[in-house]
Amino acid sequence: MQSRPQKDVVMPADEQVIYPAALVRTLDPAQPTGEAILVRDGRIRAVGTLAELESYGPSRVDDRYAESVIFPGMVEAHSHAYSGGLWTQTYIGYYPRKDPSGTMWTGCTSLDEVITRLQEAEARLEPGQPLRAWGLDPIFFPGQRLDRHHLDSVSATRPIFIMHQSGHLATINSELLRREGIDRNTTMPGVVKDADGQPTGELQEPPAIALVKSVPAMSAPFDGSALGGFAADACNHGVTTATDLGNPYLFDDAALAEHREIIDDADFPLRLSLFHLGGGRGGGGDLAASSAQLAELMDTSSDKMHLGGVKLFLDGSIQGFTARLQEPGYLPDDRKGVWLSSPEEFHAAFLAYHSVGANIHVHCNGDEATELFLDTIERVLAEVPRRDHRHTITHSQLSTPAQYRRMRALGVCANIFSNHIWYWGDQHRDMILGPDRAKRMNAAATALRSGVPISLHCDTPVTPLDSLATASYAAERATSSGQILGADERISVAEALEAVTLGAAYMLRLDHLIGSLEAGKFADFAILDRDPLSCGPAELRDIVVRGTVVGGRHFPAAG
Ligand SMILES: [Zn+2]
Repeated sequence: MQSRPQKDVVMPADEQVIYPAALVRTLDPAQPTGEAILVRDGRIRAVGTLAELESYGPSRVDDRYAESVIFPGMVEAHSHAYSGGLWTQTYIGYYPRKDPSGTMWTGCTSLDEVITRLQEAEARLEPGQPLRAWGLDPIFFPGQRLDRHHLDSVSATRPIFIMHQSGHLATINSELLRREGIDRNTTMPGVVKDADGQPTGELQEPPAIALVKSVPAMSAPFDGSALGGFAADACNHGVTTATDLGNPYLFDDAALAEHREIIDDADFPLRLSLFHLGGGRGGGGDLAASSAQLAELMDTSSDKMHLGGVKLFLDGSIQGFTARLQEPGYLPDDRKGVWLSSPEEFHAAFLAYHSVGANIHVHCNGDEATELFLDTIERVLAEVPRRDHRHTITHSQLSTPAQYRRMRALGVCANIFSNHIWYWGDQHRDMILGPDRAKRMNAAATALRSGVPISLHCDTPVTPLDSLATASYAAERATSSGQILGADERISVAEALEAVTLGAAYMLRLDHLIGSLEAGKFADFAILDRDPLSCGPAELRDIVVRGTVVGGRHFPAAG
C-alpha cells in the first residue's frame, strides 16, 4: 500500500483526552467555537473552555494541536476512489497536479508536450506492456485533436489507451483499435469516424469506451492499493469522509470483503461511503435483484464503511458537448448531447432503488437532465411516497432557478460542481455556452436562496480532491485566468465551508455522525494552520492542512 500515514499508538477506549487548540471551530451554530475538544473512544465528548472540559472527570491533555485550528473533517460527496491508483499511469493533464505522496506533476500545456511526455513514458515500459495515460484535456488545444495518428507516432506496436480529463472520452491508437476489432463497420454510437469512415481513435462515453477489453478501463479488477492512495490524498486535504460515487464491485463478495478489510482497519485514515454503480451505463440489468441486494448491504455498514447509496447517470459532460441542454443549447451549434439512460430505463431504476430505501445520487450536468430527473422523482414519489429521501442531483451545473424551486418542493439536494468555474469557466463562457449561461453555471447562491440543501464537489480524478479549494471556487467564482464568472452566484465563505462539511454529510445521510464538531459525533478533524472562517475566498486555497484525526486517531499530512 502506497503512502500510508504513519501508525499511531492505540488509545484505551475509556481514556479521555483533551486537545487544546489555537481555536476549535465547530460549524455548530449552537456552540461555534471552543478552546479545546474532549475525545473519548473515538467520539467527541465535549467542546468548551479548558476549565469546562476538566469537569468531565479524569483526562489527559495532549497539546499537539495547541498551535493549530481544529476544524470539522471535510466531507466529499462526489469522488472516485480509483483515482488513488491512477498515478501508476502517466499524467498528461493541462494543470499541474499533486499526487498522494505530495509530488507535483507539471501540466502539459500543448499537444506537443503531451506527445513528448507519452514518448518518455513509452521508453520506460517493458516490451508488450500497454501505455496508459490520463488527464488529456482537448479543450485547451482548440483546432487540434489528438487522434490515433498522433498516438501511432508514439508506438505503432504497443496498445495505447488515453483517458480524457472529463472521464467521458478516451483515445486509443491503431494497434489497440485493431486488437479490439473496432473498424469502419463498428456501429456503436460514440466511436468517432473520419471523413473516410475510419475510426479516429476517439471513443465517446462509457458504452463506446467499454469496447476496449484488453486494456481494462471502466471495468478493471478491484485494486486495493488504489484505496490507499485515495485515502492519503484525502488526508493531505483535510477530508475525513469521502464517497466512491459509483463502485462496480459491491456485488462481488470477494472484492467487497477486501474493501471491508482495508477500510475498517483503524490505520486507514478515511471513512468511505460506497455507492453502487447502478443503471445508466448501458442498461440497469436485473433491477429487482440488484435493488434487493443493495437493501441487504445497507444493513452491513460499519463506522468506517457506509453502504446504501446508488449512483445513476443521465447525460454526458458539458465540455465534451455531451450534456443534455434545454433551449437555447450550446453556443457554437445545435448539438444535443447524449442520454446515458432512456427516460423509461431511468424511471425503472429510480423506482426500484427508491422503493428499497436507497439514497440515489444522479449525474445531471445539463438542465435537460435535471428536468428529466425532476419529472421522474415527481412520478416516483407519487407511486411510492417517502419522506426525507435526500436524493441528490450531482453536478447540477446548469440547473435553472425554476428547477431549484422544484428541487425544494420535492426534497431534492444539489451537489454542485463548483470546481468547473475555476478549471473550465473561461472555456464555458467563450466556447461552449456563451457568457449568459456560463455566469449562471453551478448556481450555489440560487440553490441556497431557493432553500435547497447543497454540497460542492471535486469529482476526482476529474479535478483534485481539495475541499477548501472547492469551497473557494464557489465563494470567489474566479476562473483560472482570474476573471469573475457570475458574481451574483457567489456564496459566503461560511456557506461554502458548511457545504463541504455538513452539507455533504446531509446528502449522504450521515449528518448525525459527521460534518460538525458536536458531542456524540465521531472525532473527525481537519488540522489547519489558520481559521478558514477568517479567510477571504481566495485565501481558503492557501490554508495549510497539517493532517487529520479520524475517530480519534492521528494522521499527519504528507510532507
Ligand atoms: Zn463522478
